Amino acid sequence: MDEAAHPTGRDPLVLLGGTFDPVHAGHLGLADDVRSALGVSEVRLVPARDPPHRPPPGATAVHRLAMLRLAIEGRRGLTLDDREMRRRGRSYTVDTLKELRDRDRGRSIVLVLGADAFRGLPTWYRWSEILELAHIAVAARPGDPFDSALPEPLVALWENRRTSDPRDLVAARAGRICIVSITPHDVSASAIRAAIARGGPEREAVRPLLAPAVWDYIAAHRLYAA
Ligand code: ATP
Repeated sequence: MDEAAHPTGRDPLVLLGGTFDPVHAGHLGLADDVRSALGVSEVRLVPARDPPHRPPPGATAVHRLAMLRLAIEGRRGLTLDDREMRRRGRSYTVDTLKELRDRDRGRSIVLVLGADAFRGLPTWYRWSEILELAHIAVAARPGDPFDSALPEPLVALWENRRTSDPRDLVAARAGRICIVSITPHDVSASAIRAAIARGGPEREAVRPLLAPAVWDYIAAHRLYAA
């Protein structure tokens, strides 16, 4: 039977892309929350080797990948997809989605974006193709009025494609925008890098935001030091 005609038979492929410089509790909490909200068994973390739209990462791709491996070790339901690490050139999400779509035309794909990342979507390379290849799950804090000030190119899309029912993400392979409520974690990789660079008590204060093995790795390789 043609699988493409029956996309509902399998879990969607759920992807969380990012720079993970370094991976922290906000990323892991987000992945866990999305996994349970969408009722899937796995969320794939997809680190970008050369992320567009931002200054070069503080740690090399090799270090960021190693930290991700350590962070997900023994954590149920989180896996790693290193295809952007192996690809040359800028790490464009649209290229990653195309690769995955070419490999499996029948499966739903869901790209997870934090609310901030979603608002910035119209600046992404060939962004309008993204919803042809995948759904988007926008992860927002409960009560976050993030849709009140969407950039103009997203307004109509949001009105026409939004859903809060995860079943819509299996009924079609791509094209919907699903809002997922997440537990807030007030943490960002940039704040962690800055605190480590300052050293002393500020460095120590961010320790609980990182997996112990990631903290040890950062210390052993003197990452993010001033
Ligand atoms: P930086 O501070 O360097 O910009 P970051 O902490 O935002 O980094 P990224 O690797 O850029 O981390 O983020 C990957 C994805 O994770 C994005 O979709 C982003 O919105 C989301 N994300 C990052 N931190 C959090 C958090 N604390 N809570 C929820 N989502 C988050």
